[in-house]
Amino acid sequence: MKYGLIGYPLGHSWSPEIHQYFIQESYQLQELQPDALSTFLEQRNFDGINVTIPYKQDVIPYLDEIDKDAKAIGAINCIVNRQGKLYGYNTDYLGLKEMLVANHIDLTNTKVLLVGNGGVAKACKHLFEEGNVNYTIVNRTTNEGVIDYETLYAQGDQYDVLVNATPVGMYPNIDAMPVRLEEFQSIHTVIDLIANPLRTRLMQVAENNGKRTLGGFEMLVRQAYEADRLFTNCEQSETAIQDCIKTIRNQKANIVLIGMPTSGKTTVGKALAIQLKREFVDMDQVLEERFGTSIKECFAKKGESYFRMEETKLAKEFIHPEGKVISCGGGIVNKEENMQFLRANSIVIWLDRDLDKLFGSEDRPLSQDKEAILSLYQERKGLYEKYCDYRVENNGMIEVTIEAIQKVLEV
Ligand code: NAP
Repeated sequence: MKYGLIGYPLGHSWSPEIHQYFIQESYQLQELQPDALSTFLEQRNFDGINVTIPYKQDVIPYLDEIDKDAKAIGAINCIVNRQGKLYGYNTDYLGLKEMLVANHIDLTNTKVLLVGNGGVAKACKHLFEEGNVNYTIVNRTTNEGVIDYETLYAQGDQYDVLVNATPVGMYPNIDAMPVRLEEFQSIHTVIDLIANPLRTRLMQVAENNGKRTLGGFEMLVRQAYEADRLFTNCEQSETAIQDCIKTIRNQKANIVLIGMPTSGKTTVGKALAIQLKREFVDMDQVLEERFGTSIKECFAKKGESYFRMEETKLAKEFIHPEGKVISCGGGIVNKEENMQFLRANSIVIWLDRDLDKLFGSEDRPLSQDKEAILSLYQERKGLYEKYCDYRVENNGMIEVTIEAIQKVLEV
């Protein structure tokens, strides 16, 4: 192996795509059982590797030199083989640092709440100490200088920035939240180091409360770039790094179309999927197949609440970042839970069509005539606005709409 990642177990990883974007060479995932680690490192049969759980400390005795920041952090996630000598680095630290700089987040004169005290928290602590940042660590296991959750909630509202360095909320357990954010009104910025989902529940609650959010996917790309720079000595411009973040995030994320009935979600969704060579899913069609009847009949026989429950179950099936194009029923926005699932790993586009172009239809239980459409629009407009990442008008030729979507997505 020339370049790659070692760890155990290695689940699904986005690392190959990210590294290959920068190094233009194959990057392999190598799951190493604990008893195979020493032979692998002694053989030194690689040019550069990244190291993940559980070996970030175990690799230390095999290194010839350790970078000063990595030494202070006490964990290694990147090893470079230079003429047979192994050099260790911590690019989590570098990636986090670069992400804060690139997003103009200055933590000086703020009070930071660091949630978690594991491997990546060590990199955070080093960065905070280097910058004289005032921070408090909360963790379920406490030791000196670490508070527990009970103490945290008893302290009250006193933090400005929250950094989540726990896996709580990580895919597939995307419902979980590491803290009760509603108790911390004064927190204005939430940085969640989890990369998948792209938008954690913590980030969604923060966004809904007007807080600034930053997710771990950007850090993942930036730490990978820092490793690639060490592997190859090749520098990339900030523009190239941002292109990588955007390109890979957009490839992974689903594209979810929301909007009024007859706004064109299915037609546009199908055409967009063909254009982008992605799978297309029409949620209403999937539900009709599952019910074995039309939605109108389902409403008539089992009621709207049954339909909404099934719709939520289906929305939860789309938490995987699979790059699908998904057209939703017009009422999907009525339940916050639906949008929470869909937004986790999707970019949401509100397809907005002028009211006079929407038409009533006998098949649609809630929008059978113009008056019903107007009242639905008034009820839902605010929700479409709240949940969308982008609003795209669909009032003319389909090609124009597709082009507008591609423009906002930059794909
Ligand atoms: P780790 O060394 O295993 O540490 C996990 C931390 O989370 C520990 O403090 C642990 O508490 C706490 N924790 C775990 N499960 C918890 C639960 N159910 N409730 C409350 N606390 C819990 O893991 P790590 O390497 O630091 O990684 C932490 C997260 O950061 C992961 O989600 C990882 O994907 C992410 N990360 C992201 C990047 C990136 O580039 N974006 C890089 C590295 C890591 P105890 O001490 O009590 O066990």
